[in-house]
Amino acid sequence: MHKFNPEHLHRLDNEERLELFDPEKTLKQFGLKPGYKVLDIGTGAGFYLPYLSKIVGPEGKVYAIDSQPAAVEYAKNKVEKLCLQNVVVLQSEENKIPLPDKIIDFAYMAFVFHELTNPGEFLSELLRVLKPGALISIIEWKKEDRDKGPPKEEVPSEWELGLALEDVGIKVGRMIELGKYCYGVYAVAPDPELEQKMNNPIKIPPAL
Ligand code: SAM
Repeated sequence: MHKFNPEHLHRLDNEERLELFDPEKTLKQFGLKPGYKVLDIGTGAGFYLPYLSKIVGPEGKVYAIDSQPAAVEYAKNKVEKLCLQNVVVLQSEENKIPLPDKIIDFAYMAFVFHELTNPGEFLSELLRVLKPGALISIIEWKKEDRDKGPPKEEVPSEWELGLALEDVGIKVGRMIELGKYCYGVYAVAPDPELEQKMNNPIKIPPAL
């Protein structure tokens, strides 16, 4: 898949992108709360880090990862410049996230899914670091002719994205339209304990 050209990172760090959607409103709508541990997948220039950092607050933590060293360096500089104390930027590999199992409450992936080389493999690795029942929010370009973003042939439709998530056992909650150019997918990581309880409801003993 075509990766974002790191020479253009500064283009991602542009307030004009706020015209696409309102990050704070959208992240709250997706269920992000103070105290959460967040994973910003493919952080790029770290454009969304100030919003993620503000919402999770001092009790929370933001892990930002990117597979391209130039993006990691750019985002690290941004975090330092803005003194975002609850944010750490880490170098990742294509299908390897440098974090221990089951620590993340909320995964955020904006304009990255269409760049994944092997979505199934990446999502399985993502599931490893997510807590059971963690929230996943994915934002992508609409698969239609646009005057911004990559060509429609290079991005997944809402339907294709939903199927890729369900293939690895992630439950798709809902899809929302985010303005003229993008859509958002709200999904949940499997929670085997909860599913077990739902399948085996407490049995009320018959009256004697
Ligand atoms: N999310 C940021 C934003 O919206 O401002 C950056 C979006 S940029 C179009 C996509 C970023 O995802 C690039 O920085 C690229 O290096 C990164 N990326 C692509 N595949 C990745 C992967 N498998 N793991 C981590 N980062 C990845």
